[in-house]
Amino acid sequence: MTADNIQSLQQEGRTFEPPAAGRDTAYIKSLDEYRAIYKRSIEDPEGYWAERATDLLTWESPWDKVLEYDFNAPEIKWFAGGKLNAAYNCLDRHLTNGRRNKAAIIWQGEKDEDVRTYTYQMLHDEVCRFANVLKKMGVKKGDRVSLYLPMVPELAIAMLACARIGAPHSIVFAGFSAHSLRDRVNDCESKVIVVSDAVIRSGKTIPLKPNADEALKECPTIDKCIVLRHAGNDVEMQPGRDVWWHDVMADHDVEGDCPAESMDAEDVLFILYTSGSTGKPKGVYHTTGGYLTYAAHTSQIVFDLKDDDIHWCTADIGWITGHSYIVYGPLALGATSLMFESVPTYPAPDRFWQICSKFKVNVFYTAPTVIRSLMKSGPAWTQKHDLSSLRILGSVGEPINPEAWMWYHDHIGGSKLPIVDTWWQTETGGLMISPLPYATPLKPGSASLPLPGIDPAIVDMENKEVGPNQGGFLVIRKPWPGMLRGIWGAKDRFKQQYFAAFKGCYESGDGARRDEDGYFWIMGRVDDVINVSGHRMGTAEIESALVSHPTVAEAAVVGMPHDIKGQCIYAYVTLKAGYDESEELLKGLKLHVRKEIGPIAAPEVIQFAPGLPKTRSGKIMRRILRKIASDEVESLGDTSTLADPSVVNELIDGKKRLF
Ligand code: ATP
Ligand code: MG
Repeated sequence: MTADNIQSLQQEGRTFEPPAAGRDTAYIKSLDEYRAIYKRSIEDPEGYWAERATDLLTWESPWDKVLEYDFNAPEIKWFAGGKLNAAYNCLDRHLTNGRRNKAAIIWQGEKDEDVRTYTYQMLHDEVCRFANVLKKMGVKKGDRVSLYLPMVPELAIAMLACARIGAPHSIVFAGFSAHSLRDRVNDCESKVIVVSDAVIRSGKTIPLKPNADEALKECPTIDKCIVLRHAGNDVEMQPGRDVWWHDVMADHDVEGDCPAESMDAEDVLFILYTSGSTGKPKGVYHTTGGYLTYAAHTSQIVFDLKDDDIHWCTADIGWITGHSYIVYGPLALGATSLMFESVPTYPAPDRFWQICSKFKVNVFYTAPTVIRSLMKSGPAWTQKHDLSSLRILGSVGEPINPEAWMWYHDHIGGSKLPIVDTWWQTETGGLMISPLPYATPLKPGSASLPLPGIDPAIVDMENKEVGPNQGGFLVIRKPWPGMLRGIWGAKDRFKQQYFAAFKGCYESGDGARRDEDGYFWIMGRVDDVINVSGHRMGTAEIESALVSHPTVAEAAVVGMPHDIKGQCIYAYVTLKAGYDESEELLKGLKLHVRKEIGPIAAPEVIQFAPGLPKTRSGKIMRRILRKIASDEVESLGDTSTLADPSVVNELIDGKKRLF
């Protein structure tokens, strides 16, 4: 090990074979088949991707060249010169291939009786209508449109309408503040914004339009604000600027078809700001042909979507996960996508399972933060519902701790369903490292093997590959169709962020190790690595060791300055319901980590935390925890992406009580 590497301490030896049931009809049926496809995809990427793009999408005219790229420039082009339209691919072609009357989107609102179903025909017609509305407002190909909406069908309709006329959409998660919205609108200079009156959450109506009003005071590029009536609360409308969705949609001249704009494969499809876990969000943009090919391809091979499947991805469409696996991927394949507006714990912690049973969901895709929070409430809630329709379970967003994985496997998967732990990023557009449900043997906590066409490596600071089980920097050595093409308006930042540190490679910013079977284990973000007496450790393994203690629901570790060791480990621990904080338990937890992974990883300080600071997509923000641990609370940095800023003060107070 060189000083730059990240040391791995974890010992997780459990493995689970993929289920036999379902294998016969699976898209990829065995590990051997995967290996053959993978080999081909790496040896002949252009041939492989040309085939995939042809099989999965309908093109108006073929491309000139499959791939042109230069990671040093950086410049990446897939299928350039090829013409297609993403909305056409997600809608129109299904009108003539037997899916016209099939459910495209089933929407479940917060109230159980609030259900709306859109067939492909209905969705197509609504999208055309809204596309005509945008055109009538003067939105042209290339103009940006911001969407600030909760999880309602109109969000998907607006997205696809933008895609139809070639106007890149920029979705801003409806949980963001006026300030965050303003910055995101101004960064991409949107012309039109779509907003709703309110968000409905846990029985409450939370006004949203006032946030937009506040933001728009300082958004000079916005001409029009389209307001959707959703909760029915009173809103103020600014004459000249604001119009109601239902009014503009009722206009006679927006009736009928809206021809899908002919787009180049490399025309921008959308801009999306990253979660902001590590700092200022980046306006990542994706282009039409490569992104859509990749979203459809990964939906097909990893979620194994079949025509009679109901696919439920619980993410918000405001995140890349919702873009790729609620809207673009499933709809490009002609699947049925379930969309849910509310939270997993309202009115009770069995809401997700009740919905799974109600719609007979087949593929269920969620985040470790959800699993951990439902674990906290106990397994009894899962037993109230018939989950027998489930076929594939998925996880995304953070490393899933082996204990959380086992809980998901046992209580939701009936100890038999495959769990696809999918590693990817906003920047990657789609899944990168993930098991294939009927081919890959599973190891709890490992994202397993790279998907076809993906060439990841683990390297040290000198960009040299490290050996098995040595931690290092996770980079990708070859382009793939779904990769970002840039950061909006920041060419230099694009290069610095992703292509500067490891020449000729895309830098993910995550640390990982690869085991003797070639399985990838994500160890956490490189920015979060802790250095104790020269031992560099990722956060994931230590956190997983803490979570494997029977009293612990969630844990986050950071480095704190230490006179002798340089840094020591500071852990924040949230207990499961029914356990009390005590000196005894503190000692027990330290001992537990020492026993599980070794003395070097034993936390110096453990602070009990009622809650942890998280991004609005549910990821732990260790950057802030590090500041609290080091008493640097004056310089917390950008906290606008925090879901609940009040936990920060609780933790600062809690720390004072420690010493
Ligand atoms: P920012 O880049 O602004 O700090 P972010 O990285 O949180 O924000 P996203 O693109 O939403 O924004 O998240 C991608 C990151 O999430 C990955 O780089 C990785 O750290 C983490 N991640 C996602 N899926 C997994 C997974 N299955 N296992 C481990 N980590 C994951
Ligand atoms: Mg990131």
